[in-house]
Amino acid sequence: MHEMGTVLTIVDTVEDLCRQYRVPALGYVKVEVGELSSVLSKYLLLLWPQGTKGTVCEGVPLQLEQKEGIAQCRGCGKQYRVTDHLEEGYPVCPFCDSKNYSIVQGADIFVTELGIPDS
Ligand SMILES: [Zn+2]
Repeated sequence: MHEMGTVLTIVDTVEDLCRQYRVPALGYVKVEVGELSSVLSKYLLLLWPQGTKGTVCEGVPLQLEQKEGIAQCRGCGKQYRVTDHLEEGYPVCPFCDSKNYSIVQGADIFVTELGIPDS
């Protein structure tokens, strides 16, 4: 299970952003989780309280947004949703049957938004 590492990476990113933009307090942290990232949202939420102890994120709610995994076919150039077109675990283009692709979305985890509480 590598979700704890992911939590710590998120916390690092948030701390950097807070320093960079001089964020005084956090209302929430919004994170985009790509469905191809192999990170499970439920474990992120489960480990969040433990992994954020003593950091700027302690006590701050974590909001997750699932992002679809999209591949672009190198054969015909069209895009398709990876999880809908898997054959033996590998993406296959539904338009031209090519197995040559690049992932254009949904492979990573990003901090997309930091909420600032109303004061
Ligand atoms: Zn294709």
